[in-house]
This record gives sequence, C-alpha cells and structure tokens, in this order.
Amino acid sequence: MIYVIQLKFLTIVKLGGSVITYKSSSPPKINETNLDRIAHELQAYRGDLIIVLGGGAHGHQAAHHHGFADSKSPKELLLKGIPSIRHNMSTLASYVESSLNKVGIPAIVLPPFCSVILRQGLIHEFPTNIFRKSLDNELVVVTHGDVCFDETRTASILSGDTIAVHLAKQLNAKSILIGTDVDGVLDGNPKDNPSAKHIPIINQENKKVILSKVGPSTSTDVTGGMAKKVSELLKITRPDRQIIIFNLAVPDRLKSLLQNESTICTRIQS
Ligand code: ADP
Repeated sequence: MIYVIQLKFLTIVKLGGSVITYKSSSPPKINETNLDRIAHELQAYRGDLIIVLGGGAHGHQAAHHHGFADSKSPKELLLKGIPSIRHNMSTLASYVESSLNKVGIPAIVLPPFCSVILRQGLIHEFPTNIFRKSLDNELVVVTHGDVCFDETRTASILSGDTIAVHLAKQLNAKSILIGTDVDGVLDGNPKDNPSAKHIPIINQENKKVILSKVGPSTSTDVTGGMAKKVSELLKITRPDRQIIIFNLAVPDRLKSLLQNESTICTRIQS
C-alpha cells in the first residue's frame, strides 16, 4: 500500500448524500457498498482529515416533510421534525464512523446540532476548537449536514456543503474535495441533458457564465444542489488551496485525488 504523508495539511472531504445514501429511498437507506469502498480509499491518507457527510435520504426527506424548505412553515412543524432528522443523521454518521474504524481510521463524530447556532439559515456561531483539538490528537473528524437551532426561525438545515466551506475557512484547509454523483460541473445538468460538456476549471474569468448554467439538484434536496456548491466554494478560493468537485460514485477517483494524481474533476480557482 502507498502511504501519503502530508502532516498538518488539512484536507476536507465532503461525501455527497447522493453517493452515500439512496437519495430517493423512503425510508432512508444507507449505500453501504459505496461507504465501505470509500473507507478503503481513505485508508492510506495520513494528513489531517475532516469528513463531512451530506444529508441525502437521511436529511432531505425528513426536512422536506417537516417544512424546512418553506420559510413560512410554523414553528410547531419545524420542531416536530428535529428528532427524526437528528435520528436519521446520527444513524448515517454512526455507520460511517464504524466503517472507517473497521479499516483502522480513528474516526469520531462531532454533530453540528450540539454546538452550532444559525440566524436566518446562516451560521451565527460554529465553534471549531473541538475540531482542532481532535485533529491535533490525530483523530479523523466526521461531521454532517444537520438541523440546528436558528435564532430567527426556530430551526434550519445546515448543509454539508456550507459546513465544508466554514471549516475550510476557520481551520485553514489546503484541500477541499467535494464528492458528488456527477463528474464535476458541466455546462448543464447532466441528468436532464446527457450531452452537457464537462468544465475542468472554474475561475474569475468564466464563473459568471458557468453559474448561469448550474442548477439545483434533481432529487429531493432542501439545500441548493450544484449551484449553491459552486457559489459557496468560489468564496474561499486562494492560490495555496485546491478546491475540487469530483465524482465520488466512480471507484478510485477519491483515492487518486488524495495521492495528488490527476483524475476527471472540476477545479475551482481564484
Ligand atoms: P450531493 O447530494 O452529492 O451533494 P447534489 O444533489 O446537491 O449532490 O448536487 C449534485 C447534482 O447537481 C447532480 O446530481 C446534478 O443532477 C445537479 N446539477 C445541476 N446542474 C448541474 C451542472 N451544471 N453540473 C453538474 N451537476 C448539476
């Protein structure tokens, strides 16, 4: 096995809900085959590592059902949704934790619900000292999209993509790898337009044109899909940081990226 040694180099890997769950399955179902394969692809990495889980079937359906997609939903409906979203996300995170532990990765789960406060759906408080301490003690942190208390509307959904961007900024991540079920960003939604062309690089020059061609997710998704991913990631570009959207459903692409080998993906640059 080839070991990749990059100590004190923080990588954040987002595992898209479309890959780690069967996103349209109700009741929600974990994609154990994909998750166990992903655990093996992560096994050789030796730098600091945070894994962020998207909600997929475990987050989006319960969130939709309890009115989180509608800003006018009554407080009672939102409150009723908290236990089921929390339960589903904890179940998913716990599966990931065990799957990583089984291949020798010392992963622990830090759930956002326990420390994050939102305001109008945006992060108001998201302390990261326990993340830093965990990394300093050579643990691999797993966190995930979650429902969180919101000072202006009872509770809101915090997406895995937003978490990845926040942690990248706060903890100075050098590599942000966003795994999803398509080859990166294309000039149209590949699920609607199979001849959509792959875009290898998004930068200041082409970002406006590309953003106009990027849409939401095609499955039940309360957090904005590809359009939101790209616009949030564009805010954290830096010359010494790599930001990549790639197809996590294709075996070995994550492993290649962790080994700095080239693979099909979209790079977001300043
Ligand atoms: P995940 O659950 O993996 O985080 P999302 O469902 O949020 O992924 O976003 C990925 C989806 O975005 C793709 O499955 C695709 O259907 C959709 N999408 C919309 N527009 C585009 C585009 N221009 N390029 C790539 N994907 C797009």
